[in-house]
Amino acid sequence: MKKEFVVIGLGRFGGSICRTLAQEGMEVLAIDIDEDRVHEFSNIVSQAVVADTTDETTLKDLGIRNFDHVIVAIGDNIQASILTTLILKELGVKKITVKALNDYHEKVLAKIGADEIVHPERDMGRRIANNMISTNVLDYLELSDEHSIVELMASKKMDGKTLIEMDVRAKFGCNVVAIKRQNQIIVSPMAKEIIQEGDILIVIGADRDIDRFGKSIL
Ligand code: ATP
Ligand code: ATP
Ligand code: CA
Repeated sequence: MKKEFVVIGLGRFGGSICRTLAQEGMEVLAIDIDEDRVHEFSNIVSQAVVADTTDETTLKDLGIRNFDHVIVAIGDNIQASILTTLILKELGVKKITVKALNDYHEKVLAKIGADEIVHPERDMGRRIANNMISTNVLDYLELSDEHSIVELMASKKMDGKTLIEMDVRAKFGCNVVAIKRQNQIIVSPMAKEIIQEGDILIVIGADRDIDRFGKSIL
């Protein structure tokens, strides 16, 4: 079943969400207070309208509560972002995702019931910094403040060794959940799987443990 989305705020962030959803064939209603921005998206999304989303009647008239997921991508105007979220909540929208500008903004959004709060600048900054620190970390996904899934590049030191020989789970407390080797992906590898230099190990665990494991293979 096709999901229907609303994106409010067509800056770089909201605009990028609109483009991706549209490319994936999703129904998107794009809204911005700025006519030029709306015009820019009129050929990209299913429907683009000029509206001030801090006005409750406007949102009601657009039938906003019939959509599956609303994304509030109003960045700099914190007041407009909060007010819009509050109205969406009161109208009974099923799922609301909001872009937060800072920690205070996030706290307020959480209190008024935003289902998901994102910090694209902060999170992308963290991701890039983490990638810069460790040469063998290719990518990572934060599961909580202390746990992640990380892609580690297998070093020369690991070449020809099995997971048992390296004793990853007992020594480091983390699990190799998959191995990417060229075009192949080995999900839930056996303990006797022989690692080759250049394999990408997908590891899950506590950040501290993954960090120790990552350093040990350098
Ligand atoms: P980004 O940070 O994603 O690059 P930006 O910095 O270009 O975005 P922001 O000020 O963060 O722009 O706002 C994003 C969009 O939200 C703008 O296009 C702005 O016109 C729109 N917007 C702001 N207030 C409202 C409102 N009350 N109703 C609808 N749209 C709004
Ligand atoms: P972000 O988009 O990451 O949230 P921002 O929108 O707050 O950042 P930008 O205008 O993108 O701010 O600039 C980022 C930082 O770079 C600011 O702190 C600004 O003072 C600084 N900056 C801008 N130009 C220069 C410059 N020529 N030399 C040194 N610092 C600069
Ligand atoms: Ca911005």
